[in-house]
Amino acid sequence: NATIEVRGLRKRYGSTVAVDGLSFTVEPGQVTGFVGPNGAGKSSTMRMIMGMDRPDEGSALIGGRPYRTLRSPLCQVGALLDASAVHPGRRARDHLLWMAHSNGLPVRRVDEVIDLVGLRPVARRAAGGFSLGMRQRLGIAAALIGDPAVLMFDEPVNGLDPEGITWIRGLLRSLAAEGRAVLVSSHLMSELEGSADHLVVIGRGRVVADTSVQELLTAA
Ligand code: ADP
Ligand code: ADP
Repeated sequence: NATIEVRGLRKRYGSTVAVDGLSFTVEPGQVTGFVGPNGAGKSSTMRMIMGMDRPDEGSALIGGRPYRTLRSPLCQVGALLDASAVHPGRRARDHLLWMAHSNGLPVRRVDEVIDLVGLRPVARRAAGGFSLGMRQRLGIAAALIGDPAVLMFDEPVNGLDPEGITWIRGLLRSLAAEGRAVLVSSHLMSELEGSADHLVVIGRGRVVADTSVQELLTAA
Protein backbone atom coordinates (compact mmCIF):
# COMPACT_ATOMS: atom_id res chain seq x y z
CA ASN A 1 0.00 0.00 0.00
CA ALA A 2 1.51 3.25 -1.20
CA THR A 3 1.92 6.57 0.57
CA ILE A 4 2.58 10.10 -0.60
CA GLU A 5 5.62 11.59 1.11
CA VAL A 6 6.37 15.28 0.78
CA ARG A 7 9.71 16.32 2.24
CA GLY A 8 11.04 19.86 2.46
CA LEU A 9 9.25 20.95 -0.70
CA ARG A 10 9.90 24.50 -1.91
CA LYS A 11 8.74 26.34 -5.01
CA ARG A 12 8.91 29.93 -6.18
CA TYR A 13 7.21 31.48 -9.17
CA GLY A 14 9.21 34.63 -9.86
CA SER A 15 9.13 36.56 -6.59
CA THR A 16 6.15 34.55 -5.21
CA VAL A 17 7.05 31.83 -2.75
CA ALA A 18 4.25 29.34 -3.44
CA VAL A 19 5.54 26.46 -1.30
CA ASP A 20 7.91 27.16 1.56
CA GLY A 21 9.39 23.97 3.02
CA LEU A 22 6.39 21.64 3.16
CA SER A 23 6.63 18.17 4.69
CA PHE A 24 3.76 15.76 5.28
CA THR A 25 2.73 12.16 4.64
CA VAL A 26 -0.50 10.82 3.20
CA GLU A 27 -1.12 7.38 4.69
CA PRO A 28 -2.94 4.52 2.99
CA GLY A 29 -6.44 3.73 4.24
CA GLN A 30 -7.15 7.35 5.11
CA VAL A 31 -8.62 10.46 3.59
CA THR A 32 -6.18 13.29 4.25
CA GLY A 33 -7.70 16.74 3.92
CA PHE A 34 -5.33 19.39 2.53
CA VAL A 35 -6.74 22.67 3.78
CA GLY A 36 -5.70 26.27 3.35
CA PRO A 37 -6.95 29.57 1.94
CA ASN A 38 -6.72 30.33 -1.77
CA GLY A 39 -3.11 30.91 -2.71
CA ALA A 40 -1.76 28.81 0.21
CA GLY A 41 0.11 26.47 -2.17
CA LYS A 42 -2.19 23.43 -2.39
CA SER A 43 -2.37 23.20 -6.18
CA SER A 44 1.35 23.89 -6.58
CA THR A 45 2.10 21.07 -4.14
CA MET A 46 -0.18 18.67 -5.99
CA ARG A 47 1.37 19.60 -9.35
CA MET A 48 4.82 18.83 -7.94
CA ILE A 49 3.63 15.48 -6.55
CA MET A 50 2.32 14.71 -10.06
CA GLY A 51 5.63 15.68 -11.69
CA MET A 52 3.97 18.56 -13.57
CA ASP A 53 6.14 21.15 -11.88
CA ARG A 54 9.71 20.82 -10.68
CA PRO A 55 10.41 21.66 -7.02
CA ASP A 56 13.21 24.13 -6.29
CA GLU A 57 14.06 22.01 -3.26
CA GLY A 58 12.82 18.89 -1.53
CA SER A 59 10.99 15.87 -2.87
CA ALA A 60 7.55 14.41 -3.39
CA LEU A 61 7.41 10.63 -3.51
CA ILE A 62 4.63 8.22 -4.40
CA GLY A 63 5.25 4.77 -2.95
CA GLY A 64 8.85 5.86 -2.42
CA ARG A 65 9.47 7.05 -5.99
CA PRO A 66 9.22 10.36 -7.80
CA TYR A 67 6.26 10.49 -10.22
CA ARG A 68 8.52 10.64 -13.25
CA THR A 69 10.11 7.28 -12.45
CA LEU A 70 6.83 5.39 -11.95
CA ARG A 71 6.09 2.55 -14.33
CA SER A 72 2.42 2.68 -15.49
CA PRO A 73 1.84 5.90 -13.52
CA LEU A 74 -1.93 5.85 -14.19
CA CYS A 75 -2.14 2.55 -12.30
CA GLN A 76 -0.25 3.95 -9.32
CA VAL A 77 -1.64 7.45 -8.86
CA GLY A 78 -4.69 9.28 -10.15
CA ALA A 79 -5.31 12.99 -9.80
CA LEU A 80 -8.04 15.50 -10.42
CA LEU A 81 -6.25 18.83 -10.98
CA ASP A 82 -7.24 21.97 -12.85
CA ALA A 83 -4.87 20.89 -15.55
CA SER A 84 -6.82 17.67 -16.09
CA ALA A 85 -9.37 19.72 -18.07
CA VAL A 86 -10.56 17.83 -21.13
CA HIS A 87 -10.54 19.25 -24.65
CA PRO A 88 -14.04 20.74 -25.12
CA GLY A 89 -14.64 19.03 -28.45
CA ARG A 90 -13.91 15.59 -27.11
CA ARG A 91 -16.67 13.26 -25.99
CA ALA A 92 -16.38 12.10 -22.38
CA ARG A 93 -16.20 8.42 -23.25
CA ASP A 94 -13.73 9.00 -26.08
CA HIS A 95 -11.45 10.86 -23.69
CA LEU A 96 -11.51 7.92 -21.27
CA LEU A 97 -11.09 5.42 -24.14
CA TRP A 98 -8.03 7.28 -25.30
CA MET A 99 -6.59 7.24 -21.77
CA ALA A 100 -7.32 3.53 -21.41
CA HIS A 101 -5.92 2.72 -24.82
CA SER A 102 -2.68 4.62 -24.36
CA ASN A 103 -2.12 2.83 -21.04
CA GLY A 104 -3.03 -0.69 -22.07
CA LEU A 105 -6.21 -0.77 -19.97
CA PRO A 106 -9.28 -2.73 -21.11
CA VAL A 107 -12.33 -0.93 -22.59
CA ARG A 108 -14.39 -2.58 -19.85
CA ARG A 109 -12.64 -0.30 -17.37
CA VAL A 110 -13.91 2.79 -19.23
CA ASP A 111 -17.52 1.78 -18.76
CA GLU A 112 -16.87 0.85 -15.13
CA VAL A 113 -15.57 4.32 -14.26
CA ILE A 114 -18.33 6.03 -16.27
CA ASP A 115 -20.87 4.18 -14.12
CA LEU A 116 -18.89 4.82 -10.95
CA VAL A 117 -19.11 8.61 -11.44
CA GLY A 118 -22.65 8.57 -12.83
CA LEU A 119 -21.87 9.95 -16.30
CA ARG A 120 -23.47 7.21 -18.39
CA PRO A 121 -26.33 9.42 -19.69
CA VAL A 122 -23.87 11.99 -21.09
CA ALA A 123 -20.90 9.76 -21.89
CA ARG A 124 -21.27 10.33 -25.65
CA ARG A 125 -21.59 14.11 -25.38
CA ALA A 126 -18.74 16.57 -25.88
CA ALA A 127 -17.09 17.70 -22.64
CA GLY A 128 -17.36 21.34 -23.77
CA GLY A 129 -21.08 21.33 -22.97
CA PHE A 130 -20.57 19.91 -19.48
CA SER A 131 -21.30 21.81 -16.27
CA LEU A 132 -18.41 22.23 -13.84
CA GLY A 133 -19.87 19.41 -11.73
CA MET A 134 -19.96 17.08 -14.74
CA ARG A 135 -16.40 18.03 -15.64
CA GLN A 136 -15.36 17.25 -12.06
CA ARG A 137 -17.00 13.83 -12.38
CA LEU A 138 -15.19 13.21 -15.67
CA GLY A 139 -11.88 14.22 -14.06
CA ILE A 140 -12.59 11.83 -11.20
CA ALA A 141 -13.36 9.03 -13.69
CA ALA A 142 -10.03 9.70 -15.38
CA ALA A 143 -8.22 9.64 -12.02
CA LEU A 144 -9.78 6.27 -11.15
CA ILE A 145 -9.36 4.55 -14.48
CA GLY A 146 -6.07 2.82 -13.67
CA ASP A 147 -7.37 1.66 -10.26
CA PRO A 148 -4.46 3.42 -8.48
CA ALA A 149 -3.56 3.01 -4.80
CA VAL A 150 -2.93 6.75 -4.48
CA LEU A 151 -5.47 9.47 -5.32
CA MET A 152 -5.37 13.24 -5.25
CA PHE A 153 -8.32 15.54 -5.76
CA ASP A 154 -7.86 19.31 -5.94
CA GLU A 155 -11.07 21.04 -4.80
CA PRO A 156 -13.30 18.22 -6.10
CA VAL A 157 -16.44 19.69 -4.55
CA ASN A 158 -16.29 22.80 -6.78
CA GLY A 159 -19.36 22.97 -8.97
CA LEU A 160 -21.09 19.98 -7.43
CA ASP A 161 -24.67 20.25 -6.19
CA PRO A 162 -25.58 18.97 -2.69
CA GLU A 163 -26.28 15.51 -4.07
CA GLY A 164 -22.89 15.53 -5.78
CA ILE A 165 -21.19 16.62 -2.55
CA THR A 166 -22.78 13.73 -0.65
CA TRP A 167 -21.72 11.42 -3.46
CA ILE A 168 -18.09 12.55 -3.38
CA ARG A 169 -17.92 12.18 0.40
CA GLY A 170 -19.06 8.57 0.05
CA LEU A 171 -16.59 7.98 -2.77
CA LEU A 172 -13.67 9.34 -0.71
CA ARG A 173 -14.69 7.15 2.24
CA SER A 174 -14.92 4.02 0.11
CA LEU A 175 -11.58 4.67 -1.63
CA ALA A 176 -9.90 4.96 1.78
CA ALA A 177 -11.75 1.89 3.09
CA GLU A 178 -10.21 -0.03 0.18
CA GLY A 179 -6.80 0.88 1.58
CA ARG A 180 -5.94 3.71 -0.80
CA ALA A 181 -4.11 6.88 0.18
CA VAL A 182 -6.41 9.81 -0.62
CA LEU A 183 -5.41 13.48 -0.56
CA VAL A 184 -8.21 15.98 -1.06
CA SER A 185 -7.81 19.75 -1.01
CA SER A 186 -10.26 22.44 -0.03
CA HIS A 187 -10.12 26.08 0.97
CA LEU A 188 -12.97 25.33 3.38
CA MET A 189 -12.40 23.21 6.46
CA SER A 190 -16.16 22.58 6.63
CA GLU A 191 -16.11 20.78 3.26
CA LEU A 192 -13.83 18.13 4.71
CA GLU A 193 -15.82 17.59 7.89
CA GLY A 194 -17.22 14.14 7.91
CA SER A 195 -14.96 12.85 5.15
CA ALA A 196 -11.34 13.38 6.29
CA ASP A 197 -9.50 11.18 8.81
CA HIS A 198 -6.49 13.43 8.91
CA LEU A 199 -5.91 17.12 8.22
CA VAL A 200 -2.87 18.91 6.87
CA VAL A 201 -3.56 22.63 7.17
CA ILE A 202 -1.29 25.00 5.25
CA GLY A 203 -0.86 28.75 5.00
CA ARG A 204 1.63 30.65 2.83
CA GLY A 205 3.25 27.43 1.70
CA ARG A 206 3.89 26.09 5.21
CA VAL A 207 2.26 23.45 7.39
CA VAL A 208 0.19 25.12 10.11
CA ALA A 209 -1.31 21.92 11.56
CA ASP A 210 -0.94 18.20 10.88
CA THR A 211 -3.37 16.20 12.98
CA SER A 212 -5.79 13.33 12.99
CA VAL A 213 -9.39 14.50 13.03
CA GLN A 214 -10.05 12.33 16.07
CA GLU A 215 -7.25 14.04 18.03
CA LEU A 216 -8.59 17.40 16.97
CA LEU A 217 -12.09 16.56 18.18
CA THR A 218 -10.99 15.10 21.51
CA ALA A 219 -8.69 18.07 22.16
CA ALA A 220 -11.53 20.53 21.57
P1 ADP B 1 -3.85 27.14 -3.74
O1 ADP B 1 -3.98 25.90 -4.56
O2 ADP B 1 -3.70 26.85 -2.28
O3 ADP B 1 -4.93 28.12 -4.02
P2 ADP B 1 -1.58 27.71 -5.45
O4 ADP B 1 -0.64 26.61 -5.29
O5 ADP B 1 -2.44 27.71 -6.67
O6 ADP B 1 -2.46 27.84 -4.13
O7 ADP B 1 -0.82 29.08 -5.44
C1 ADP B 1 0.16 29.43 -4.48
C2 ADP B 1 0.78 30.74 -4.88
O8 ADP B 1 1.60 30.55 -6.02
C3 ADP B 1 -0.24 31.81 -5.29
O9 ADP B 1 0.29 33.06 -4.91
C4 ADP B 1 -0.28 31.68 -6.80
O10 ADP B 1 -0.67 32.87 -7.41
C5 ADP B 1 1.15 31.31 -7.12
N1 ADP B 1 1.26 30.47 -8.33
C6 ADP B 1 0.77 29.22 -8.46
N2 ADP B 1 1.07 28.72 -9.67
C7 ADP B 1 1.74 29.69 -10.32
C8 ADP B 1 2.32 29.80 -11.61
N3 ADP B 1 2.26 28.79 -12.50
N4 ADP B 1 2.94 30.95 -11.92
C9 ADP B 1 3.01 31.95 -11.04
N5 ADP B 1 2.50 31.93 -9.81
C10 ADP B 1 1.86 30.80 -9.45
P1 ADP C 1 -6.46 27.10 -7.56
O1 ADP C 1 -7.45 27.44 -6.50
O2 ADP C 1 -6.90 25.99 -8.43
O3 ADP C 1 -5.09 26.93 -7.07
P2 ADP C 1 -5.37 29.44 -8.82
O4 ADP C 1 -6.09 30.65 -9.31
O5 ADP C 1 -4.43 29.60 -7.69
O6 ADP C 1 -6.50 28.38 -8.52
O7 ADP C 1 -4.59 28.79 -10.04
C1 ADP C 1 -5.22 28.36 -11.21
C2 ADP C 1 -4.14 28.06 -12.23
O8 ADP C 1 -3.48 29.27 -12.61
C3 ADP C 1 -3.07 27.13 -11.70
O9 ADP C 1 -2.85 26.11 -12.65
C4 ADP C 1 -1.83 27.97 -11.52
O10 ADP C 1 -0.68 27.31 -11.96
C5 ADP C 1 -2.08 29.15 -12.39
N1 ADP C 1 -1.65 30.38 -11.72
C6 ADP C 1 -2.00 30.79 -10.49
N2 ADP C 1 -1.43 31.96 -10.18
C7 ADP C 1 -0.71 32.31 -11.27
C8 ADP C 1 0.10 33.41 -11.59
N3 ADP C 1 0.31 34.40 -10.72
N4 ADP C 1 0.69 33.42 -12.79
C9 ADP C 1 0.50 32.43 -13.64
N5 ADP C 1 -0.27 31.35 -13.42
C10 ADP C 1 -0.85 31.29 -12.24
